[in-house]
Amino acid sequence: MRKVLVLEDEENIRSFVVINLKRAGYETIEAGTGEEALALIKEDPGIKVALLDIMLPGIDGFEVCRRIRAMDSKIGIIMLTARTQEMDKVTGLMTGADDYVTKPFSPAELTARVDALFRRTGGEEESVSADEISQPPFLLNTRNRTLEKNGQRVKLTQVEYGIVKLFMENPGKALSREEILDAVWGKDYFGELKIVDVNIRRLRIKIEDNPTKPTYVNTVWGYGYKWGS
Ligand code: CA
Repeated sequence: MRKVLVLEDEENIRSFVVINLKRAGYETIEAGTGEEALALIKEDPGIKVALLDIMLPGIDGFEVCRRIRAMDSKIGIIMLTARTQEMDKVTGLMTGADDYVTKPFSPAELTARVDALFRRTGGEEESVSADEISQPPFLLNTRNRTLEKNGQRVKLTQVEYGIVKLFMENPGKALSREEILDAVWGKDYFGELKIVDVNIRRLRIKIEDNPTKPTYVNTVWGYGYKWGS
């Protein structure tokens, strides 16, 4: 579940944020006031990350942040700050925010921050509570680090396992080769991107019904790969 609450009173900014998060594979819930945002968070424990604008009618974003922290310490919070309000960053972090994005921001910058926060909050929680990811015909066991297809074990290398896990945690999301490299090999790895393609080719041979016409690991031309359609 990748649910993000977007609190922003300016409708054009809110829809810009929402469109870009949806494009990145997130489910979004919108609020125009702090009071509304707090009510939505209270009734939906599935919300894992909240983006909070600061200048709002009614209570401001800092107060919303404080109140969210008072009821749930695990939710990830990113403040949307204006460039002219340098102090916002400090104040935001003091009230319990995890990160901030300065307006105007690019879609890539925004989704990168949300992705990073999900990895730290939502992602961790998932691996503790559930050690199986089931997406028929596949079943991934994250405790034993094994993959089954239609109940049959598929023998994977650790790298292939890492790629499958990344895919199954991000179904339907286009992942760039750089993202795959960072997630599986680590950010400190400065190898060639080609290594991603080589491993994907090998993985397809192991898991696709017909490796020349893949249906699970799909190519996103000029970008990377996507799990499913
Ligand atoms: Ca505002």
